[in-house]
Amino acid sequence: MLVKDMVQLGAKRANIRELFEYGLRKKAEIGAENVFDFSIGNPSVPAPDAVQEAYRKLSERKDTVKIHGYTSATGAMSVREAIARNLDERFHCGAKAQNIFVTCGAAPALMATMKAMCVEDAEYIVLAPYFPEYQTFIRSVGGKVVVVPPNTADFDLHVEEIAPYFTAHTQAILINSPNNPTGVVYREEALKQLSDLLREKSAEFGHPIYLIADEPYRELVFDGIETPFIPNLYENTVVCYSWSKSLSLPGERIGYVYVPDRCADSTDLFFGVAGAARSLGHICAPTTSQYIVEQCCGIMPDIAAYDENRKTLYEGLTKIGYTCLYPHGAFYMLMKTPFGTSMDFSEKAKEFNILLPPCDPFGCPGYMRLSTCVSNEMIVRSLPAFKALFESGK
Ligand code: PLP
Repeated sequence: MLVKDMVQLGAKRANIRELFEYGLRKKAEIGAENVFDFSIGNPSVPAPDAVQEAYRKLSERKDTVKIHGYTSATGAMSVREAIARNLDERFHCGAKAQNIFVTCGAAPALMATMKAMCVEDAEYIVLAPYFPEYQTFIRSVGGKVVVVPPNTADFDLHVEEIAPYFTAHTQAILINSPNNPTGVVYREEALKQLSDLLREKSAEFGHPIYLIADEPYRELVFDGIETPFIPNLYENTVVCYSWSKSLSLPGERIGYVYVPDRCADSTDLFFGVAGAARSLGHICAPTTSQYIVEQCCGIMPDIAAYDENRKTLYEGLTKIGYTCLYPHGAFYMLMKTPFGTSMDFSEKAKEFNILLPPCDPFGCPGYMRLSTCVSNEMIVRSLPAFKALFESGK
């Protein structure tokens, strides 16, 4: 006997993965230059030179037992110290090594954090559109997903619309800014309002309501916009971070959970995260990746290419007649589905060799997500196909 839910989860690939795999087959069939793949969020900018150099130096070290060995489950102490130092230097948050649990990226960081606080009947508030895997993560740890519908006027944080979704069972709200899939960056004013609401609701229900800040895109912001460091605004914030996007290392599986001292029950929460990670099979994050981020966690990404891409794509598509949301962060752009349902439109786009995931799995039907971590040259080449696709609906 097998667990049906797990079999289904494994058998049915995520929509975006499905498109990505389709794209690989199509590229082999008709040539890569004829497929316009906007499906997946795999960074197209290479890892910074300093990261490559750190890998080279690491590969030359003779202490291979250390370099390839297990570290403590929490991460090597020198690595945790480097991460905490960097956070403190940038955000003056008082982070210490003891607050950092090194993980295999943001996904396991989120799982461990949510599992640690998943008491009976626990509810997690997510704001649509949201990273589709949130549904899987929350359900897998035994929680209930509570979805706040999108505000399609601007896809920003509207605190008054979130307030009705809190109940006595709310354990946490998940916030992802800069946002996948909208590219919206939540501003300090709205986050302060959210902090006030969380304090009010924590008092009303008699237990702390945590804010889980999912921040793999923290450094990917344009137009000089600030990404507020949420733990400085709301005391009960846990940060789940990864270098998948900022240092273009998604396959190296490296990130962390930051549980600030200010957080309610912070010591127990940290142990809870460690225990939850352990129960999920975490032994330690990849050791080589840990030593890389020890050297490189202070390096800022080069966002020039993503900046240029979002401008080229936004200008090109809006000129044709598409309605798009101008992104200020991350490397995605949201497009209103011009005709039919977004699922059908995604299928239709395939006829023009354009791969566009529908936002239904993000909790936002009627919209498409375009990944802008692609080559600028592909964007330019794709525009005639986008025009033909648009005209096919007239
Ligand atoms: N959270 C969001 C919003 C993401 O977009 C992603 C990956 O695309 C993740 C979490 C998972 O990141 P990681 O590769 O670090 O596990």
